[in-house]
Amino acid sequence: MITIKKAIEYLQDQIKIIDEVEEVELKDAAGRILAENLKAKTDQPPFARSPLDGYTFCAEDSIGASKEHPVQLAVIDSVYAGGWTEKTVRKGEAIRIMTGAPIPKGADTVIRQEDTDYEKIVAEKENVKIYKEQKPYENYCFAGEDFQKGDCLLNENERLDSVKIGLAAAMGYQKIWVKRKPKVAVLTTGTELANPGELLKNGQIYNSNLFTICARIEELGGKVSFMQTIPDCADAIRNWIDHEIDQVDLLIITGGVSVGEKDLTEVVLQKMHANILFHGVKIKPGSPMLGALLRQKCVLGLSGNPFAAFVTLEIFLRPVLQKLTGSDSYECEKRKGIAQMTYEKTCKNPRFVRAIWEDGNVYFPPAHASGVMSSLKTCNCLVEIKECRDGIKKGEEVCVRMI
Ligand code: AMP
Ligand code: MG
Repeated sequence: MITIKKAIEYLQDQIKIIDEVEEVELKDAAGRILAENLKAKTDQPPFARSPLDGYTFCAEDSIGASKEHPVQLAVIDSVYAGGWTEKTVRKGEAIRIMTGAPIPKGADTVIRQEDTDYEKIVAEKENVKIYKEQKPYENYCFAGEDFQKGDCLLNENERLDSVKIGLAAAMGYQKIWVKRKPKVAVLTTGTELANPGELLKNGQIYNSNLFTICARIEELGGKVSFMQTIPDCADAIRNWIDHEIDQVDLLIITGGVSVGEKDLTEVVLQKMHANILFHGVKIKPGSPMLGALLRQKCVLGLSGNPFAAFVTLEIFLRPVLQKLTGSDSYECEKRKGIAQMTYEKTCKNPRFVRAIWEDGNVYFPPAHASGVMSSLKTCNCLVEIKECRDGIKKGEEVCVRMI
């Protein structure tokens, strides 16, 4: 048995970065890994603009203005968001202006309309009374104050989330180059597996791993190219792998990695002349897992136990995707917390326990067995217990991986 760290190293050493890129529309780019540096095509904002609704003029004109002694200015034009005025504001003049509208020449300040007599006149005003002294560049958004043309704001290998996509749009991009998604084939093996929707025969259970794993791959930005379920039959498993392996970057198999008579994964891979990198990892649950290289492609063989499959996928999929894409955006979020309950179990190997992190406190659900999935629903993290520990004591600080 090797450590998790070593197992990840073995896999990463063998994986080649995908160098294909594709151009996608920004609206389809959520979760994708950027394949270029993006430089702003324009200043943002492209012109000096007003942050509020009011009047714009030269601050000097408002010296001494107050409610008791207003300054009266002549209103020479109005400008709205999306509009433009060629007029220059001169001494004694103002222009009616709305949020987002360009500040005209000659003006250097905007007063909010609440500090003027704007309400009293319904129709176009010819004059406005200013009730407050304004400083130069008060309520004035400079052109390029957010970013300037040519600024590089997004870099190759960054993963695009909603904020970054909005930023790319503000920078003027409609299409961008991203890395091709890693293609994954998912194979669940087990004669006992029935597809959801089918009637269960004696001895059968519904196949949940297939759906958990495929959903997680998609959540983390991979593409599930093929998914299949095959009974514990070496020839059938071999035929399927033989057919699909060349079309994907990664193969994930669940079931059949342990020591039972029907645990065929390693046997099949060996027959196909795969290079078994490791079989057995110091991790609980899921220790019988294996990693292999078959025709240059990475293979992960996971225990069929749903929670074991979930944990090992959580620990191993991220570093594999990280290496495949060359992006370091796959790190999971880690937090610290104080255990509010005791978890008693001797842990010879590192163990991951499902838990709930809430405001720095960590709670364990009542059910923990590897075959139990229902209690995972309420959990949002895995507590990592280091090897050679007698579990976790109430009040102890623990490290959790958010899921
Ligand atoms: P195995 O890893 O094949 O020894 O399976 C371990 C346990 O997980 C057994 O109880 C299996 O019935 C169950 N199991 C295997 N594959 C799946 C699956 N795809 N979905 C749900 N349970 C499974
Ligand atoms: Mg089995």
